[in-house]
Amino acid sequence: MKKVRHLLGISGGKDSAALAIYMQQNYPNLEIEYYTTDTGKELKETYDLIDNLENYLGKKIKRLKSYEGSNEAPFDHKLKSLMGFLPSAQNRWCTKYLKLDPFEKFVGDDLVISYVGIRGDEDREGYISRKSNIQSIFPFRKNIWSEDVMQKFLNNSNLENLMNFYSSLDLGSKKDRILEIVKTPISLDFQLSQKLNILLDLGIIAFNNAVFSFLKTTSYPLAVEEEFPLIENKDILVRDDIFKLLRESNVGVPGYYEKIDFEVNGQIGQYARSRSGCYFCFYQQKIEWIWLYEQHPDKFQQAIDYEKDGYTWIQDETLSDLIKPARITQIKEEYLKRSKRNSQPQSPYLIDILEDAEGEGCASCFI
Ligand code: SF4
Repeated sequence: MKKVRHLLGISGGKDSAALAIYMQQNYPNLEIEYYTTDTGKELKETYDLIDNLENYLGKKIKRLKSYEGSNEAPFDHKLKSLMGFLPSAQNRWCTKYLKLDPFEKFVGDDLVISYVGIRGDEDREGYISRKSNIQSIFPFRKNIWSEDVMQKFLNNSNLENLMNFYSSLDLGSKKDRILEIVKTPISLDFQLSQKLNILLDLGIIAFNNAVFSFLKTTSYPLAVEEEFPLIENKDILVRDDIFKLLRESNVGVPGYYEKIDFEVNGQIGQYARSRSGCYFCFYQQKIEWIWLYEQHPDKFQQAIDYEKDGYTWIQDETLSDLIKPARITQIKEEYLKRSKRNSQPQSPYLIDILEDAEGEGCASCFI
């Protein structure tokens, strides 16, 4: 029987690092291979986090590079071949060449379970590979399965199988209610997400067992596994749990997540960086660029050095213009105003505000 590989990608950010710690603590018998796809352009704090994690896990984190045999950073190597054409949200060649391609090469044709650190309090789907030999699992979420699996599992054409999977389980006192939901077809009035949530609320473990039975009838990697310990998992981890895992394991929280005060026109605000990734990532907010300029001026200068021949990181504005004193003041003022408007009472973290405003573009770079 083909062996399934269990992989966990370390992006250098807090969530994937916490997932590695969580998996080691809860599933020490799973033989997980850890890897990171390095662009060569992260902040030092990210590389420190990866080293700390390696020490904690007692395992090597494999550094995947898009190009071996050169001392140049993978980003620079690729950039040269593209004649200095900087990546952008519209042309995100960096994600493809520096992240996805090395990952898919590393996987080859092997059957792979890829563990992804999307949290229980995030409303987004993760990367689903175009390759059918890679299956994503989300251990921090109530629903650990990927969207494509759910589309097939809960599809009306699978209703009879669904009944059979569930009927073979010990459903206890909720049996009648569960089977009633199971046999109700998806429709405009009863959408897939509703059915999914109700079934999960009625019993996560029963749901996971039914999905696992279903997977046995498919060509997904888990079809060949005799058992999968995560089907017993009922944990849901949110942001606070992530910081706790990092702190209590002594792996630590990367310094750039820590809030720093800034002053503008007599008002005090706080800024930080919202995520790992290349220091010049074009997805960062203008306030994060200002953070980079003020906290890591050497890196900011290096980002400026990439801007040549009309190529800029931000559309319609060069980094040299961005750091003119009047412009910095304006960005900080606008940011303060926006923070006050957006600030959610249930979320005191600046980082929430940054991430909410930032969107998901860069996050989907991390598989
Ligand atoms: S972090 Fe940003 S710049 Fe770096 S590879 Fe990802 S999308 Fe590209």
